[in-house]
Amino acid sequence: MRDFSAGHELLSINTATVRKQWPLDTIIEECARREIRAISPWRDQVAKVGIERIARQLRETGIVLSGYCRGGFFPAADAAGLSAALDDNRRAIDEAALLGAPCLVLVVGSLPGALTGVPAYRDISRARTEVRDGIAASLEYARQIGMPLAIEPLHPMQAADRACVNTLEQALDLCDELDAERSGALGVAVDLYHVWWDPKLAAQIVRAGAQRLLAYHVSDWLLPTRDLLNDRGMMGDGVIELKKCRGWVEAAGFAGYSEVEIFSETWWGKPGAEVLDTCIARHRSVV
Ligand code: ZN
Repeated sequence: MRDFSAGHELLSINTATVRKQWPLDTIIEECARREIRAISPWRDQVAKVGIERIARQLRETGIVLSGYCRGGFFPAADAAGLSAALDDNRRAIDEAALLGAPCLVLVVGSLPGALTGVPAYRDISRARTEVRDGIAASLEYARQIGMPLAIEPLHPMQAADRACVNTLEQALDLCDELDAERSGALGVAVDLYHVWWDPKLAAQIVRAGAQRLLAYHVSDWLLPTRDLLNDRGMMGDGVIELKKCRGWVEAAGFAGYSEVEIFSETWWGKPGAEVLDTCIARHRSVV
């Protein structure tokens, strides 16, 4: 297993972690100041500053991407909605390519409209079919551009509104169906917050192998968890066996960054500098 204790060359910051403290250009500056070498930004953060400016800033600082967030949300109430989702995913793929991302992370979506509390339908198997078809269509374009797509399974507590792909096994079944030749164009983002509880996790990581393991996200599962979305813990403050899980992905051949992704009202309420410094310390001590 790689030794994280002596440095943080393999740390990446998912920029949602400090999105309430700083705009993206400041986040990049603050990461550069701390010799953090990788980030994973969100589309809305990029758009606010301007993609050309962010691309230039990345070149100047030498900071690379460990992923780009996000594509997905394929299901829709009607044909026009399905088509609009594909258009949006093509734009996301283009942006990821412009920024030099190693993959576009997919939060695949589920019951359309559920995020606003009013789903257009309740048939989750229909949503899963629309997700499969949406990934298949996007994959054709992604292959032309050379941008791998990483399906991120989300914890089942988000099955209605954010993702109807909820286990690593389910994500890998999709990969096998749509990319049987294991071309590298389709894989998974393993976010421990979403999959740590899964009794099949270790076996599915082996099944994924290096070709399918495109991204690795860490945070921690707090006791008690007070919010389904925005109460993730800092690494070391919860119950996820971080080092054991990292051992599994590295044994399977994963050699990429360990990306900190913390959606947390608690951590959004602290100074950004304290958050980044804590991420570095915990990366070295407990990740
Ligand atoms: Zn994630």
